[in-house]
Amino acid sequence: MSSSSSNRFRRDPPPTHCECEEPVILQTSKTINFPLRRFLGCVNYYHGSACETFYWVDPDLPNEYYKKEVFKLMKKVKLNENKIDEELKRSFDFERSTMQKQAVVLQMELKEMKASIGFYRKLVVFLCMVVFILLLVK
Ligand SMILES: [Zn+2]
Repeated sequence: MSSSSSNRFRRDPPPTHCECEEPVILQTSKTINFPLRRFLGCVNYYHGSACETFYWVDPDLPNEYYKKEVFKLMKKVKLNENKIDEELKRSFDFERSTMQKQAVVLQMELKEMKASIGFYRKLVVFLCMVVFILLLVK
């Protein structure tokens, strides 16, 4: 399995475009046989493209031991990235819910302040009327 693909490693000039006439992109293999080995390929390589443009950029790892170790490290990094993503998501969700609660409290405070402003406004109007009437009576 590894021999057929590794035989495709060659030193002729790398392709710039694929069979679909799209510019090739640098990609990284994540398979157990070619962990982290970079290649140039079709932009749709991982999306079921029938395009066969493929060019290894890196040489194959020298033996199965290195391949296994690199693959294990790759999996470990992925696992840690997932843990970090989960932790960030949990922290984000907590912050969001805290902020939503604070927003509710602030909205209630705003409502109360508006209500008390309304009350004081009516009180001022009432006192002005009292003063006005007292001035008329004198
Ligand atoms: Zn293509």
